[in-house]
Amino acid sequence: MSEPAQVITVEIGRGGLKGADPKAEQSPVTTGSVKRDMATIRASCPDCGDVELTTDDVKVRVCLDDDRGEYRFTCPICTMVVVKPAEHRTIDLLVASGVHMDTWTLPAELFETRTGRRISHDDILDFHRLLADEDAIAEALASISER
Ligand SMILES: [Zn+2]
Repeated sequence: MSEPAQVITVEIGRGGLKGADPKAEQSPVTTGSVKRDMATIRASCPDCGDVELTTDDVKVRVCLDDDRGEYRFTCPICTMVVVKPAEHRTIDLLVASGVHMDTWTLPAELFETRTGRRISHDDILDFHRLLADEDAIAEALASISER
């Protein structure tokens, strides 16, 4: 006989988590008894409105450099991917309810020191012309494969 399962309902609305404050009107976390360790997450699709998801449907992502977080899910109605910024308390609750969290860092290119002048429209036109020169492309590709 298994123990009674715990169900967590996490509501994430336009303003982030609804009622995370215990004094707030809505209860952010409700427990019931459905599937074991499976939280029901109620989120909002911009086109379809409120949709119900499971912890497997939602992913949380936090940037280690600027500490910003977001969650994303594929809307079960319109199948569009919905991505929304999330506050720390929302992320904590989602992760506590079993949502997988990924971390990422900003691309290293953002921290590179830049020298030289900016690329201009003329540079792009020159590059476009070079792309049309098949001999130049063949020569460039050959030099890459020689490395
Ligand atoms: Zn939708």
